[in-house]
Amino acid sequence: MVWGFVALLAAGIGPATRDAATAENLQGNVGGGLVTATPGTLPILLSAPHGGTRRMDGVPNRTGENVARKRGAKTNFSFAFDRNTDTLTFAVASAIERLTGQRPYVVVAHFSRRQIDANRPAEEAVESDEARKVYDAYHDALRQFRAEILARHGTGILIDLHGHGGNPEVLYRGTADGQTVRNLRETRGQDALTGDTGLLAPLARAGIKLQPENGSPAAENPALNGGYIVRKYGSFAGGSFDAVQLELGGALRGAERLPGVAEALGESLVQYWRKYLVRQDDGHGGK
Ligand SMILES: [Zn+2]
Repeated sequence: MVWGFVALLAAGIGPATRDAATAENLQGNVGGGLVTATPGTLPILLSAPHGGTRRMDGVPNRTGENVARKRGAKTNFSFAFDRNTDTLTFAVASAIERLTGQRPYVVVAHFSRRQIDANRPAEEAVESDEARKVYDAYHDALRQFRAEILARHGTGILIDLHGHGGNPEVLYRGTADGQTVRNLRETRGQDALTGDTGLLAPLARAGIKLQPENGSPAAENPALNGGYIVRKYGSFAGGSFDAVQLELGGALRGAERLPGVAEALGESLVQYWRKYLVRQDDGHGGK
């Protein structure tokens, strides 16, 4: 079912991006090869919208005019490149597979944020029809995978991976101060996110500096507290699917540290899955 949808999308890409389709054959990509979208078996969906560098021919850089008109501010408009978050996402998926024998769902952007910002609503994200098709491929994949996870597991979690340019050692949590994880807080309690056995605890134990600190009731950094993707696909407006944005400092996604960070993040998601996402009637535990 998913692969039918992938092929459909790939066929719908216009001539301006079709020449980028070589990677598509290798990776099963969509969006003319500018998006990797691979289905999984676990109720975990990894997303990385800002780690791409590939440019679409004939599509100019965004100007932000729609963003400025709508918001009256330039602060929501950015070309910032989240280096290595694509590599990190694939490494986290591999770590999870090594630990469980199962795969998370993965959606990774290869396009440049100068042309498409997948972490914005469509009207602010693109300024051409060609870019819109690739943007839609990214979001159709997220939407389809989320729906499939809910149909199979009844609940699930999306992790949206980003990089920030501040303190290179710090990882910022973004949940709109708990609103994109409303479901897990209401059904499992705040500890499921920030307690000793919660989602982020293995990261803290691996020595990663979390902001807010794990267990702290402090508010999240307002500039990094969760963007469009986690607000749209998490439980902000209800439902049983949660979403967490993780913004990593440069050192955490540099070549030296990236494997260890990916391993810690993979472990944290596997522990979270076993404790909070395995259905009680599956007979696999789910304590
Ligand atoms: Zn980002």
